Amino acid sequence: MEFIPVNEPLLNGNEKKYLCECIDTGWISSEGPFVKEFEQKMSETVHRNYGIAVSNGTAALEVAVQALGIDAGDEVIMPTFTIISCAMAVTKVGGIPVFVDSDPFTWNMKVDEIEKKITSRTKAILLVHLYGLPVEVDEILLLAKKYHLKVIEDAAEMHGQTHNGKPCGSFGDISIFSFYPNKHITTGEGGMVVTDDEELAERCRSLRNLCFRKDIRYIHDEISDNYRFTNLQAAVGLAQLERLDEFVERKRAMGRYYTERLCEIKGLRLPIEHTDYANNIYWVYGMVLESEIQVDNRIIQKLLAEKGIGTRTFFWCMHEQPVYRNMGLFKNEKYPNAEYLARKGFYIPSGLALTKEQMDKVILGIKDMIVQISNN
Ligand SMILES: *Cc1c(COP(=O)(O)O)cnc(C)c1O
Repeated sequence: MEFIPVNEPLLNGNEKKYLCECIDTGWISSEGPFVKEFEQKMSETVHRNYGIAVSNGTAALEVAVQALGIDAGDEVIMPTFTIISCAMAVTKVGGIPVFVDSDPFTWNMKVDEIEKKITSRTKAILLVHLYGLPVEVDEILLLAKKYHLKVIEDAAEMHGQTHNGKPCGSFGDISIFSFYPNKHITTGEGGMVVTDDEELAERCRSLRNLCFRKDIRYIHDEISDNYRFTNLQAAVGLAQLERLDEFVERKRAMGRYYTERLCEIKGLRLPIEHTDYANNIYWVYGMVLESEIQVDNRIIQKLLAEKGIGTRTFFWCMHEQPVYRNMGLFKNEKYPNAEYLARKGFYIPSGLALTKEQMDKVILGIKDMIVQISNN
């Protein structure tokens, strides 16, 4: 039986050609010329002045948090329903993540819950666009202005997406992207920080590279890390970026195809196709079990795996993470919508290399699986 993986990237453009160029010229490290070219093209794509490529999206978040000077005791508001990279970037510097619940339908953070979480220690809002549909940013930007807060935009899943016609990755003080293989554009591993502020950009470049002093090498006034991005990664990234519009179109077609065929099934809450400010780009095609289906996503994952279909459960909430609970954090906090998504949400094969035949198999498998659990 063929196993349909949850994600397979599409690498049949100029990837091989540009990679060969790296090998032929000997430029494979972070000093190679593709890195700057990729930074420039990527930042232009999202209408930003500066792009600083780093080793992955998690590193990009860490660099963003540190560049903004977020420090011990500072509070950063973010969704609890997200990847741990967001919370970790803050707790690593001794900061405190402050969570908000999620919207049950867009799966993004509930913007109307942000203001009541603001205290005198709040330094920033970390907005995260999830699963292909952006968060409504206008309200967040207004709040940031009103309370003098920094805004970090996690656009890791938002390549090619817009919000009211403006590119995701263009909002706030700093935005970040990831180029992990399940994102619309991949470099194997990789990430980028983008900003319009020259000083912040300079700070990010320094943080990316061990905070070497500019005038004298091997002298350091600060501790950071090695988050450098290689010419090999940039070679793949440039080839991928050439096809961004095509990839977004392909993902949207995939989303429509799944929705048309899955919408007749009772008990599945499918992704929202569009809001008044954006059309879904389906980072992945996710869905949430309605309460009438009384199993959780781990059971679904197992049943679909038995049918040769790869899936992933949704994120697990930050306030329920054992690592933070063990640190005594977030003990009595409850975010019912986010907790529901974490237990009932999952996504199905939706990588760029997925074929129509594979999609049809996935659709059939889901239909069979729903009948199977309804009969038990
Ligand atoms: C993928 C992702 C990241 C982290 O990116 P990595 O490159 O895997 O470190 C951060 N935030 C969100 C929302 C993501 O989806």
